[in-house]
Amino acid sequence: LTWPEYWKKNKSSIGVLKGDDPEKVDENLASKVSIWEGDITKLEIDAIVNAANSRLLGGGGVDGAIHRAAGSYLKQECATLGEKPEKLQECYRNSLSVAKQNGARTIAFPCISTGIYGYPQRAAAKVALATVKQFLVNNPDSIDRVIFCLFLKTDKDIYEELLQKYFAFE
Ligand code: ADP
Repeated sequence: LTWPEYWKKNKSSIGVLKGDDPEKVDENLASKVSIWEGDITKLEIDAIVNAANSRLLGGGGVDGAIHRAAGSYLKQECATLGEKPEKLQECYRNSLSVAKQNGARTIAFPCISTGIYGYPQRAAAKVALATVKQFLVNNPDSIDRVIFCLFLKTDKDIYEELLQKYFAFE
């Protein structure tokens, strides 16, 4: 389901927030975003984005092992390092650019940086939605569908709330 369809089906009694966002979003734009709860590897889609570092060694590995051994303190410590929003924004923007360059029409994102890396979920969702929206506005004929793949219920709740702010339409 696209976000507007999902919204109508699940939240119609609450209604759509209007005028919350200075940049008015049209239905065409809103219809390009979806949420999906589950495993990103199960999606039949042109491109999926990995939340990995540039070595692309895959999840777990030495990073996972170190974090398992260190316990939650390491995660807390990493969180205090604070990835700058600009860096996270670049992750989304660059992924969309690469997808566009390769002719991918559909792309799915996991909640980048909010797992092992420890970026706060809600703040990360705001960066993700604002960046994707800006890209879709600036590149109207490139990507048909962006799916936010939400692995955790907490992320699903956050995206359900924030999507109406960023992609609500009249
Ligand atoms: P990072 O280092 O960027 O934080 P993680 O892989 O630790 O990357 O976590 C990023 C997000 O991906 C988390 O919300 C996590 O729950 C989610 N996630 C884990 N496995 C999957 C999966 N198979 N499909 C989609 N999302 C997943």
